[in-house]
Amino acid sequence: MTNLSRRRFLASSLSVGAVALSPFARGADEAAPEPIIDIHQHTNYANRTNAQLIAHQRAMGVTQTILLPAGSAVKRPSTGDGKHNGLGGVGAGGNDTALAIARQFPKEFLFGANDVTDLPEARTEISKYLDLGAIIIGEQKFAVECDSKESQMLYALAAEYRVPILMHFQHDTYNLGFERLHKMLEKYPKTNFIGHAQTWWANIDKHHADQKVLYPKGTVTAGGLTDRYLTDYQNMFADMSAGSGLNALTRDEEHARGFLDRHQNKILYGSDCNDPVGSGTACQGSQTIAAIRKLAPNKTVERKILYENAKKMFLNNR
Ligand SMILES: [Zn+2]
Ligand SMILES: [Zn+2]
Repeated sequence: MTNLSRRRFLASSLSVGAVALSPFARGADEAAPEPIIDIHQHTNYANRTNAQLIAHQRAMGVTQTILLPAGSAVKRPSTGDGKHNGLGGVGAGGNDTALAIARQFPKEFLFGANDVTDLPEARTEISKYLDLGAIIIGEQKFAVECDSKESQMLYALAAEYRVPILMHFQHDTYNLGFERLHKMLEKYPKTNFIGHAQTWWANIDKHHADQKVLYPKGTVTAGGLTDRYLTDYQNMFADMSAGSGLNALTRDEEHARGFLDRHQNKILYGSDCNDPVGSGTACQGSQTIAAIRKLAPNKTVERKILYENAKKMFLNNR
């Protein structure tokens, strides 16, 4: 049976009532009427347990989650002398922890491979987990120039393994030199870059001038650096996760509708929230799902952003 016919078979063999009664029992996308892929979550996030993480994802209606590990806990300038270990000091787990959940729940969880960008053993460590089945490099969240030679080694590695690399852009803190990223997009055309975080989302606005402002409010004028990168480079994608992603949608809803429409093939849903709740105001990830549903210009675009784009990038050909 092909995947598609199997999915249809399963969908038709389940009564509507059975689906409605067991939202927490479903894991595989086959059983969900509207599957959602979350491309951005973490293990041990702010001490959230694995059981809480799994319950959180199911409560959000997420059917498949990509776990992005932290790098090695080391003290060096790129980790702020250890302050940024565990992805910005939030205690996120490393490669082994993401792999462990993915092995235990292979239908629900996939995993990434990561390490501190400029650690001499980064390439070997990341390759080891890519060989074990990791489907992305990241989350890259270290104090390095985005065009450093060590970063470039990882861009090349991503192309070699045909996996994307996810980067947290934060002015003066992580992946510096966002205004020079286009040089990397040109130099590594076979590497798919996924942009994330404050500096990425602040720069949707053409008039975003003060890069120290990380969560700008108010109306947005299209044509900012982020908008241009997405338009001009086929290998640039956007991760909708975190407070910065949600802010980009809510600060100017009219702009957001156009943005989701014009980049409908490039935007990937992610949550990146660390609450144990998974719904309502306590959960930024579920608010982002609601915002996408509200602001997507039509159902086709909504489904692309919540599911189809990530399926195409991560699950086809597996
Ligand atoms: Zn993250
Ligand atoms: Zn949440």
